[in-house]
Amino acid sequence: MIIDFHTHAFPDDIAERAMSKLAYKSHLTPSHDGTISGLIKSMDNAGIAKSIICTIATKPSQSENILKWCLKIKSERIIPFASIHPENDSGFVKKIASSGISGIKLHPMYQKFFADDERMFPIYGEIEKEGLILIFHSGFDIAFPADERASVERILKVAEKFPGLKIIASHTGGWKMWDRVLRLLAGEDIWLEISMTLKYIDAPERFYQIIKKHSPDRILFGTDAPWGNQSEDAGAVRKLSIAAELKEKIFSENALSLLGG
Ligand SMILES: [Zn+2]
Repeated sequence: MIIDFHTHAFPDDIAERAMSKLAYKSHLTPSHDGTISGLIKSMDNAGIAKSIICTIATKPSQSENILKWCLKIKSERIIPFASIHPENDSGFVKKIASSGISGIKLHPMYQKFFADDERMFPIYGEIEKEGLILIFHSGFDIAFPADERASVERILKVAEKFPGLKIIASHTGGWKMWDRVLRLLAGEDIWLEISMTLKYIDAPERFYQIIKKHSPDRILFGTDAPWGNQSEDAGAVRKLSIAAELKEKIFSENALSLLGG
C-alpha cells in the first residue's frame, strides 16, 4: 500500500485559477489539474491508496472555509489537513481537532511568518495539546528563492521547544538545505517527508546519509503532487537502494502508525 503524505488540491470552482497562479510562481508543470477528481485519477494511475491534502490559508479569513471544505472532501482515500493563519486565534486549533481532522499544514512563506516566531507558540502549544500532526513546509521554496523563514534551524527550534509536537518536516527536512538537514535534523524526534527531493538533490548520497541517520520509523512518502508526479515519485522510491522493509515503512507503515496514534 502507498500513502502520499503531501499533496494539494483545490475546490473545483477555484482550482483552475489557483493552479495557473501557482504554476506561474513556481515554473512547474502540474501533474494533475488541481481538483479532487484530478488527484484521485493520479492516485489510481500511481497505485496510491490514500493522499493527505495540505491546505494553506494565506489570509486569516480563509481558515474557516478551508476547514469546511476539508470536512466535505474527507473520505477513505482523501485525508485533508486543515490550515490556521498566524493571525487566527489559537483556539481555532481546538475546532479543527474536534471536527475530526488529523493535522494542520503550515507554510511560513505563503503565510508570512518565521517558523520559530514566538507569536506562533500559542498555536504550536494548542496543536501539541490536541495531539494533531503538524506538517511544515521546510527548507527553501521554488517560489521564494533564498528565503530562510522555514529553515532547518528554525524547525529544529520549534521541535526542541515543543517536544510533544508531532512535526513533519517536508521535502526531506528542508528543500535544498539537505546538508543542513543531515547535520542538524536527521536523527531528531520528528518525521521527514520525502517529496521533491530525489529529482532535485545534487548529491544523491546525501539522501541516503540522511535516511540512514534518521529513524526508519519516521520517514514518510510524499510527492507534493501536482508539483511532483505520483507515478514517477513512487517509481523513484521503488528504485532506491534500501531494504524492502524500509520501503514498506516509507510507503505506508509509518504513515499508518502516525495517523493511527
Ligand atoms: Zn506542497
